[in-house]
Amino acid sequence: MTRSEELYADACELMPGGVNSPVRAFRSVGGTPLYFEKAKGAILTDADGKEYIDYVSSWGAVILGHADEAVTEAIAKAAAKGASYGAPHAGEIALAREVVERKGIDRVRFVNSGTEASLAVVRLARAATGRTKLIKFAGNYHGAIDSLLAKAGSGIATFGLPDSAGVPKETAQGTLTARYNDAEDVRRILDANPGEVAAILLEPVAGNMGLVPPVPGFLSTLRDLCDAHGTLLVVDEVMTGFRVARGGATERYGLRPDLIVMGKVIGGGLPVGAYGGRRELMEMIAPLGPVYQAGTLSGNPLAMAAGLSVLSRLDEVRYAGLELMGQRLQDGLTGALLRAGARGQVQRAGSMISVFFTEKPVTDFEGANATDKALFGRLFHALLARGVYLPPSALEAWFITAAHTEEIIDCTVQAFGDALHAVG
Ligand code: PMP
Repeated sequence: MTRSEELYADACELMPGGVNSPVRAFRSVGGTPLYFEKAKGAILTDADGKEYIDYVSSWGAVILGHADEAVTEAIAKAAAKGASYGAPHAGEIALAREVVERKGIDRVRFVNSGTEASLAVVRLARAATGRTKLIKFAGNYHGAIDSLLAKAGSGIATFGLPDSAGVPKETAQGTLTARYNDAEDVRRILDANPGEVAAILLEPVAGNMGLVPPVPGFLSTLRDLCDAHGTLLVVDEVMTGFRVARGGATERYGLRPDLIVMGKVIGGGLPVGAYGGRRELMEMIAPLGPVYQAGTLSGNPLAMAAGLSVLSRLDEVRYAGLELMGQRLQDGLTGALLRAGARGQVQRAGSMISVFFTEKPVTDFEGANATDKALFGRLFHALLARGVYLPPSALEAWFITAAHTEEIIDCTVQAFGDALHAVG
């Protein structure tokens, strides 16, 4: 028995499925989850001392790599001054200034996770429009909240659940699901529900059904449809914000959102989420307005310090570097698939990437689900044996960090080629 297997057996006696977030349990790829003891740069070390090149990267949160020295120092310095005050402090202003400037928004509110940010944004959008219905896209994930679990990606997709038990029928009925990359489907739904849809929630690059970029024209048509119907466009940048460009996906694709949901990179590996937008919308939030939202640990000094340390070093040069490494990995994996005669699609946006085992590019959830997930599972284990740790599901994006060097990318490509050969 490995140490990871021993730990997992203990964990299963104490936590449901042994984990605190479902996809970690390896259910869709089989086997026992690895327990990690430490991480540095792009390398994870498991409880048995084995090292792996990491493409989970804390699900995209650690964009500079693990245990970055400046981030670690910023956290330690903040911790020495008190872990939490439950009262205002200057660190919140510094991170807010950086976020507001990069995202071109007027106001931001910090929370503790992407889920919490989505929850608040739904409440705000409903209050601002006086409407209740929402449109979301099949395969997009916005956090584990009642109104947004319909046909959600990530863990819900990994386990093949239609949506979650425990969601009241009335809540689920208010969420209308459209096909990703299909603006005509959205137009049809809006026309069928005139004056009733508060918001469209959107992953501008889908990362929770594997990596699915927006097709040309999709995002701009959504903007036009929202304008025509008085519906708010909520852009979920939890994955893409501060990752696919300095100003996130809205900058990369020239998209004008009404509200933005943020998370992951913004906390430098600590638990942070945020939402923001125009002043008149954000001033509806308490204490200025009637929309209530609060949090004991929101704006936590350690998390603000970590986030600021990361964002202050993410300049255009870093983004250009991440793009180059993304391209290098995409080219390498594509070449390996060709050499192996395997049918695969390497899909990418900046430093987010994934491989689908299928003949044609994947543009929606149906396409993602029709790919060869069993082959992905075999490849996952073959890569694990060769020291590469991918997300343990065919329906998740892989994340490159600034610590993934050319050498590390080339090692990954070599291992991928060998793994493909091994799984036939
Ligand atoms: N939105 C998107 C696009 C996400 O990818 C995620 C998490 N992967 C969330 C929201 C929820 O964020 P969190 O897990 O921090 O609650």
